[in-house]
Amino acid sequence: MFSRPLRDLTHTVGFRLTLWYSGMFILSMSLLFGLVYFILSASLKNQDHEMIHSRLRELSTVYGQGGVEALEKEVTREKKFKKSDSFLVRVAGPDRSTVFLVLPYQWAEFDLKMLEEKSFDGWVELDSTTAKDVLEVATTPLAFGYSLQVGKSTEDRDKVLRDFRRIFVSALIPLVLLGFVVGIFLSRRALHPLRQLTETVRSVSSGRMDARAPFLGSRDELGDLIILFNSMVEKIEKLIRVMGESLDNVAHDLRTPMTRMRGIAEMALQTDGDVETCREALADCLEESDRIVGMLNTLMDISEAESGAMALELREVKVCDVMEKVTDLYSYVAEEKALRIETRCPQDLSFVVDPVRVGQALGNLVDNAVKYTTPGGKVEIAAEQEGDKVFLSVKDTGIGIGPEELPRIWDRLYRADQSRSQKGLGLGLSLVKAIVEAHKGDVRVCSEPGKGSVFTLCLPR
Ligand code: ADP
Repeated sequence: MFSRPLRDLTHTVGFRLTLWYSGMFILSMSLLFGLVYFILSASLKNQDHEMIHSRLRELSTVYGQGGVEALEKEVTREKKFKKSDSFLVRVAGPDRSTVFLVLPYQWAEFDLKMLEEKSFDGWVELDSTTAKDVLEVATTPLAFGYSLQVGKSTEDRDKVLRDFRRIFVSALIPLVLLGFVVGIFLSRRALHPLRQLTETVRSVSSGRMDARAPFLGSRDELGDLIILFNSMVEKIEKLIRVMGESLDNVAHDLRTPMTRMRGIAEMALQTDGDVETCREALADCLEESDRIVGMLNTLMDISEAESGAMALELREVKVCDVMEKVTDLYSYVAEEKALRIETRCPQDLSFVVDPVRVGQALGNLVDNAVKYTTPGGKVEIAAEQEGDKVFLSVKDTGIGIGPEELPRIWDRLYRADQSRSQKGLGLGLSLVKAIVEAHKGDVRVCSEPGKGSVFTLCLPR
């Protein structure tokens, strides 16, 4: 029944919001109108009753002074000055029959016979035979069973109330229509960023990972949402890219040991059951499979730390203790390579970390320093505090890293060309970075080919 653009419009949040607001506006305006109408009508009624009573008092005084004749004279005198035109004045005898009556000609439609039948207690209301007006009549007793009645039609007050109703309706309808149109326009404008976000989500879910929602410059809730959404998509895009690269690298790096293992097993099978050769082949296979398992474990650790799933057992430890354990571990290898290891650490310096994980990170740095430093060189491990941060650095006099390779050494499975002769998986530094970042710290490196490198871990205390 509806055309498509109209159906699209009516299915928007903006349309529903505007509908709600308009409904609330009409309801509150109607309540306000009802209240004002009630107060106005009560006050007009009071005013009319007050006028009738004061007229009743005036005329009963006149009657007291000179009876019906005086009353007639007074009413005629007042008529001349057009004063008593808007009141009914009636004197009834003890049997309720009319003794004296003045009725403005425009009220001829009221059935005055009723006055002879109805009781005089309180207010008497006479209905009009032609209009909706009512003639309100008040009574006061006179001497000898006579009564004086003064009445007034509600015509004037009904007219005021009728005008009031008409003005309200004729002002409310255009106001609501205008409010509705402006409301739809404003809500559509306000929700424009949300629609763009929906479009972007649609593009991203259809595979366009480079799609971003345009930021319109206002830092409100929607602006913040767009910034957060874009940075989230950016992270996911990076993660997917890194995961893809890692998968390629893993596949590539697994192929070599697996092929080697297959070769060893094939050769062992070809030797006619020589136990010693078979034993050697099995030992080689074991070594290769250990390497593969080690690589997979490290990859799992890195993913765990990067995704925030690594369970850190944080506690306060002395920096020297962590450092000492690592140096002890590598002192033998260093000695074998004729390297000097020097440490520098303030005795009372402590930090809150997972000592096993930080030890592992520092160990990887020292391992690299020992591995990539030629015999006779030196490895310095130092700790110092700056503000609320602890800096752990490992400096060596080794082969160094070229500036073009520096940004890539933190990538998974990356190994610089000159280090291929050394044993390694290319995962050590990725793990160091992941562990330090899981501690909300960061890593830095300075290196010069042929002179050496300085790796620094910056950890919050
Ligand atoms: P690997 O197992 O190859 O040592 P890492 O992730 O620990 O893997 O290091 C990545 C690469 O960074 C190494 O292959 C090497 O080229 C370079 N590197 C790391 N530490 C040093 C160092 N102290 N001196 C020179 N090069 C280093």
